Amino acid sequence: MPTDKTDLASSGGNSNTDSSVQIHFDNSYFNELSGFYQSQDAELAPSPSLIKFNYALAHSLNIDVQSATDEQLATIFSGNQKLEGAAPLAQAYAGHQFGHYNPQLGDGRALLLGEVIDREGKRRDIQLKGSGRTPFSRSGDGKAALGPVLREYLVSEAMHALNIPTTRALAAVSTGEQIWRNQAAIGAIVTRTASSHIRVGSFQYFAANGEQDKVKQLADYVIDRHYPQAKQTDSPYLTLLTLICEQQAKLVSKWQLVGFIHGVMNTDNTTISGETIDYGPCAFMDSYDPNTVFSSIDSQGRYAYANQPHIAQWNLARLAETLLPLISDDEEESVELATNALQHYMACYQELWLVGMRAKLGLKDQEEGDLELVQELLSLLDEQGVDFTQFFRSLSQVVGGEKNETEKLIKQTEEWTAWNKKWHQRLDRNPISPAERAELMDRHNPIYIPRNHKVEEVILAAEQNNDFRPFERLLKVLENPFKVQPGCEEFAQPAPSDFGPYRTFCGT
Ligand code: AMP
Ligand code: MG
Repeated sequence: MPTDKTDLASSGGNSNTDSSVQIHFDNSYFNELSGFYQSQDAELAPSPSLIKFNYALAHSLNIDVQSATDEQLATIFSGNQKLEGAAPLAQAYAGHQFGHYNPQLGDGRALLLGEVIDREGKRRDIQLKGSGRTPFSRSGDGKAALGPVLREYLVSEAMHALNIPTTRALAAVSTGEQIWRNQAAIGAIVTRTASSHIRVGSFQYFAANGEQDKVKQLADYVIDRHYPQAKQTDSPYLTLLTLICEQQAKLVSKWQLVGFIHGVMNTDNTTISGETIDYGPCAFMDSYDPNTVFSSIDSQGRYAYANQPHIAQWNLARLAETLLPLISDDEEESVELATNALQHYMACYQELWLVGMRAKLGLKDQEEGDLELVQELLSLLDEQGVDFTQFFRSLSQVVGGEKNETEKLIKQTEEWTAWNKKWHQRLDRNPISPAERAELMDRHNPIYIPRNHKVEEVILAAEQNNDFRPFERLLKVLENPFKVQPGCEEFAQPAPSDFGPYRTFCGT
């Protein structure tokens, strides 16, 4: 996999030199869903400058950039130069924000440039975020600030490396413009890719307007694009709902297993594909506490760590409501079938979460008492406020026969000793080789996550000193979260105590 431009040049890619960047657009959303978006060009960025370009991702997307200079990449990924075949558009959607329905959201600061078919044959969206006002901007400026752009770049790429479905970051560009966010901020644009940007809120927009034909058109499009297997079944729209429920169950279980807190799980931020989207107020939990909330506006704790699985189900229920007329002509029957799909979501979630927790504990088989074993451990971590990531990784060291770090992380209370004994007895009943067990645990217990204090350090250095070296370094570490990287110990440590309680912000 090429990771920089030099690697790419030697990787035998297409060497068309007519244009510095070639994106082979194949735009199904623009062509098939007229009435679901507004065409819109990017605003001119006064002085675009490239912060970062993801050459490996570009390569996987069949995007030819080998003859492009940083200046050319900045011109294109600020939206200043429109590429041949691009059909920029802002998508229409609505959404429940913190439980309250807002009928008019839509891409207020994002533009879908178009779609490409990647090297695996999968369709991917390419979208600019922060490129200026659109018909959906309401009172917003349509822009994004440097800090949140760097955060989205880092965290989305970290999530990808953690094997969690996510939008990805293709480019980050500063615009040379000053914008206003309570104070002056540096304008920037992130280019993100996604298997699509269709959300629960996309369905809600048309359902709430009573446009059932459009809901059906969108459902058919989603089936073709994401869930073609639904077409072969007796009830394609019920199958569609069920498959989306399964993808969300998979996603949220993965979030819980690494302590990721999305922060703003509104229905407009819940994708139909099951990818994580919108890295606004997100953050990783440090010491284990199910009630953890970082977002400054989430005063009720609606999107707290422990609530995420339930909120995803609530969001899926909003999707189900829009599909009811398609599922059956008999309303009562539709409601019953959709309710079953939502229950199926929760059952899948619980199963996947437990499978993941077993892997974190080095267990390959299943026993009835496993759930209790996990719950007992989590209560211990909660009581003592133990660092979630460090603790689980230290368990890998225990079974790997390395120096035992666990004792430094958790107080040796009676409860701990009893749990530890129970866990070891359980390990003995699941005899896999020590090497296989250590490998299983290492693969599920990351060493490096985007620690909140590290992300803030990176943003501060970039904002205050125009220094992007900390960003580059952190990004590099996060690309390999499961492997020990010598010299990177500081990235595995929790925040120093003077870092204080962490707060994140929306709409940034
Ligand atoms: P988000 O919190 O990023 O999910 O955004 C929620 C809604 O607000 C979406 O419709 C966004 O397009 C819109 N929005 C967020 N920030 C801005 C902005 N600076 N200008 C215009 N619209 C925005
Ligand atoms: Mg959003």
